[in-house]
Amino acid sequence: MDLVTKDLLINFLFILLALCLMQILYMFKYAYRLESIRDWTLSLFPIISLILCMMFPVYTNENFIWDLRWIPFILGGLYGGYKLGYLMMILTLIIRYVQGGDGFYSSLVSFTILGFIIIFISKFYSKLLLKHKVILNLILTFIGISFTLLLAKVQFNYEISIKFWLQLSIIHTIAMSMATFLWEGIKTNFQVLQKLIKAEKLQTVSHLAASISHEVRNPLTAARGFIQLLSDDINEDSRKQYSDIALKELDRATEVINDYLTFAKPTPDREEKININEEIQHAVKVVIPLATMNGVEIKLTLLDHDYFTKGERKKFQQCLINILKNGIESMKSNGELTITNGYIDNQVQINIQDEGNGMTQEQINRLGEPYFTTKEKGTGLGMMVSYSIIKSMHGTIQVSSEYGKGTCFTLKLPIFENESFSA
Ligand code: ADP
Ligand code: MG
Repeated sequence: MDLVTKDLLINFLFILLALCLMQILYMFKYAYRLESIRDWTLSLFPIISLILCMMFPVYTNENFIWDLRWIPFILGGLYGGYKLGYLMMILTLIIRYVQGGDGFYSSLVSFTILGFIIIFISKFYSKLLLKHKVILNLILTFIGISFTLLLAKVQFNYEISIKFWLQLSIIHTIAMSMATFLWEGIKTNFQVLQKLIKAEKLQTVSHLAASISHEVRNPLTAARGFIQLLSDDINEDSRKQYSDIALKELDRATEVINDYLTFAKPTPDREEKININEEIQHAVKVVIPLATMNGVEIKLTLLDHDYFTKGERKKFQQCLINILKNGIESMKSNGELTITNGYIDNQVQINIQDEGNGMTQEQINRLGEPYFTTKEKGTGLGMMVSYSIIKSMHGTIQVSSEYGKGTCFTLKLPIFENESFSA
């Protein structure tokens, strides 16, 4: 392999390296809930590979430098939109100017013209099919190379050998196609994750639905029985007694459905003052049918005093229900789920203790990672969502668990007094 190919392959490595880092950063963002990592942070990667490619180029003569800079330049502009496009244009020209040689002027013309074309195309780019994206990127790459060559010919009468041209074309084609596939892969991967996070609640809602229908059937059957008795020839006292019972049973069924619906119904979320005791009670009500179905008894002991915190009520409900549901699911049968709360250091502490199968240290460490589940039908997103909800409420979640014995989740939430709340 000659030196030119080797140098260009090193350039290709820089592009792959940046893509690899991009994937890792995305993973960290979700696994460790690093909200400081915003989408713009990802723009750093095309910039990094652009700079690295330009710092390690192939010198053909004193004026001309070749490298794979077109690839990060095109991908950055197309995926990152106009801001990144302009930034990369300016950056490319500054670096090229610093590198010296008269080749700068042909770069100035080719990168500026193609830069504007790329920024224009970036508006429609995301709607294209993958194969069209690859073809478009390859066309843009070849326009870029040919443009530079043409300008070099006009300016310096500079020509490259067929062999060099072939090397450039083959490496550019492979590198650009692979980089596009990888970029799309990484992007799709995380779009799917984001969609799943949104759908996580739906999964819980549908799981609970099975136990709710079970729970509603019992009072309905009882009510039906008593109504049937009413049609018999009975005295006035019994009639009154039976109809009271039937009504009570119907009320019970309505209550179960209502509790479930207030959780299941999507409502716009906004920050509000949250009564912690009330929310725990409501979350417990929603999971009682599930507990009954699994033979789990729920013990609830709450503080007498009402403490308030701040956050999105529905989200907080979702978080509590996720943790309660995990506790119930961890117990095969006849377990107890104990929920208590306390007030310590201006924080409300909520303890959710189960007598289930517990977790190993390795499982505890992985808790909250996307897709981490040990259940056959689990999503592995419940805890991740719960962690981010509590984090957004400026609280913390602690876990202590003993394998085979049980788990205790401790949520700590800051308290908001009436006066300090303004929403
Ligand atoms: P899923 O419930 O869909 O599996 P979660 O994110 O809610 O996803 O939980 C991830 C994993 O954490 C579970 O599969 C389980 O292994 C473990 N886990 C969570 N809570 C408990 C608990 N209370 N007891 C034992 N294991 C638990
Ligand atoms: Mg779960």
